[in-house]
Amino acid sequence: MKWEDSLGQIKGVGPKRKEILESAGIKTIGNLLSCYPRKYLDRNVLGTPGEFSEDQEISIKATVLDSGRVQRIRGNLSILTVPLLWEEKKVSAVFFNQPYLKSSFIENEDYYFYGKIKKAYGGTKITNPQFVRANNPGNFFELTPLYKSIQGLPKNVLPKMLSQIFTDDLDLPDPMPEQIRLAERLLDLKSALKVIHFPQKAEDVLQGIERLKFNEALKINMGILSNSLDKRYSDIEVNLFSGLEPFISSLPYDLTTSQRSVINDMIADLKSGQVMNRLVQGDVGSGKTVIAIIASCLMAQNGYQTAYMAPTEILAQQHGRSFKELLKHTGISAEVITGSLKVKEKREILERVSKGEVSVIIGTHALIQDAVDYYNLGLVITDEQHRFGVKQRSRLSLKGNQPHNMVMSATPIPRTLALILYGDLSVSYIDELPKGRKPIKTYCYNEASFHKILKFLQDEMDKGRQTFVICPFIEASEELDEVRDTESVYLELLQKIDARYQVACLHGRLKNEAKEAIVQSFNQGEIHCLVATSIIEVGIDVPNVSTIVILSAERFGLSQLHQLRGRVGRGIHQSFCFLVTNSKSEETISRMKVIVNNTSGRKIADEDFRLRGPGDYFGFKQHGLPRLGLLNPMEELALISRTKKIAEVVFASNDEKMMTFRNEVLKSFYLDIEEVSFN
Ligand code: ADP
Ligand code: MG
Repeated sequence: MKWEDSLGQIKGVGPKRKEILESAGIKTIGNLLSCYPRKYLDRNVLGTPGEFSEDQEISIKATVLDSGRVQRIRGNLSILTVPLLWEEKKVSAVFFNQPYLKSSFIENEDYYFYGKIKKAYGGTKITNPQFVRANNPGNFFELTPLYKSIQGLPKNVLPKMLSQIFTDDLDLPDPMPEQIRLAERLLDLKSALKVIHFPQKAEDVLQGIERLKFNEALKINMGILSNSLDKRYSDIEVNLFSGLEPFISSLPYDLTTSQRSVINDMIADLKSGQVMNRLVQGDVGSGKTVIAIIASCLMAQNGYQTAYMAPTEILAQQHGRSFKELLKHTGISAEVITGSLKVKEKREILERVSKGEVSVIIGTHALIQDAVDYYNLGLVITDEQHRFGVKQRSRLSLKGNQPHNMVMSATPIPRTLALILYGDLSVSYIDELPKGRKPIKTYCYNEASFHKILKFLQDEMDKGRQTFVICPFIEASEELDEVRDTESVYLELLQKIDARYQVACLHGRLKNEAKEAIVQSFNQGEIHCLVATSIIEVGIDVPNVSTIVILSAERFGLSQLHQLRGRVGRGIHQSFCFLVTNSKSEETISRMKVIVNNTSGRKIADEDFRLRGPGDYFGFKQHGLPRLGLLNPMEELALISRTKKIAEVVFASNDEKMMTFRNEVLKSFYLDIEEVSFN
């Protein structure tokens, strides 16, 4: 069997099972081998009665005093209690709904038990333990890998398939040249996978993991290196005309020092003769839009068009308004292309774009990428907020001559990750907010206080302010009935909020026209309280909103909460954010504290990344992020820099093995990225 072979090679994998595995992303032997265990069960730690910590899984050796008794409670619940003697201490093993186990125990025999020990009412208990006779422990003390469960697949199937792969002839040549492997003291690929899936001792696992992490870190570095060797010269000439400063002075406010320095960075890029690839990173509300507007003004003065890609239609509309408003007196024309345009209108705009009569084209990725025939596109600005799409950018850049690129992001991406995602991008930071902003006061409450919060909302609306109430779900879910949804919260607010105030509900399932109508009325202050899903996290810039309430806050990621909170505090009013959660888990509490205590997006992002690892950081799909299995780049900076040197060596070498290795690694780097679809 080979890495790229299909699963059909494995005994017992019929069409049905194949489908289940495929829908979990497992299509080849290689995919299967890359399903690393989530953790390992280690029954080697033997506890003593004098020294054990509750709630931690341990093994004990104990004598069965008798084979126990079964209690029947209600029709279908039974409890088997087996009395044990653990050294001098009396303990009971308790089994739920497994009365038949009674016959497994022999009086006065010694057994090993493995499970959580608790001091409970009526003595010390070990609940639903695994057990084995002490005189014949078999493989009880071997490390057991535990895998993430796959829906529809019985637990033991994955380990079985893996053991078949390793029993059969597994033809797995190591692409890494021996000279690197030996110098770095690494296991070869096959041995590394073997100890990860079939470990004998804990140390073996560590060695295997080290090798695989090394692979990932090296792959990242080689991808970055190949990107940066790819710098291209630009024939788009940009000069500074005398019109830019007057335009900047005509803005309704002074630019902050940070905004100024971003503009200087940008101008330097545009004059460098190379294609600009710049990431502008600034917290929500730090004023990135105006930078895009200034950039497009500069391009227009030089006779080039600018495409501005917004992540959603709502945002495209909203940015369209800002662009048009600020460019009003310059004679520079801006148009928004959205799905809700009438066919005729759209055709007309596209025609003017192709003749060069429109200088700034605003829309979503889909709209700007495919259908538009530009006259002379000079700059592409991608407003990603906190979604990433490496692929999108490359597609637009392939059209015509190389336009300059600017990416706006509100998620302060940890530095290492920025490198992984963007490689060749230079980064500018906006690290101050416009003057006069008051920090948003943030509180965390239990659901029981919801009525008090409603009273607070009402008070704010009495003062003329607008408010948001955010829920994770659109409608109630049976399985997760404690998670709040917009539909029922909306109905609740209709009853509880004074009828003078307009309440509306906004979510992704509404038609585009309906969404736009709601956003418009909200912008115009006709809606006072908006119940919404996280759909509002990107965009919506209404300075009059003073309060945001986030229900079931534990369901959101930290960066997402920060982004949501950034929807308020955009004007002169003191603003408030209420995080509401019923969860008492320690994790939730510490995550809520991060938001309550921090206002800096960069700090929050670092925490988020640290708590969740790279996989979940970007939501469930990893947008454009090379798949990372074991490596957490935040915690493994040393490994990243160690492999960087090796990547450079590989790139510089003419040795045939090294060159083959380089090509293979790069191929898989781009495959990883290409596999990610954007939605
Ligand atoms: P984001 O960085 O989140 O995209 P926006 O560009 O939407 O932020 O800006 C947020 C608000 O700040 C807008 O209402 C904008 O008009 C305002 N703004 C931007 N720059 C300044 C500035 N230098 N001084 C005052 N207000 C500003
Ligand atoms: Mg923005």
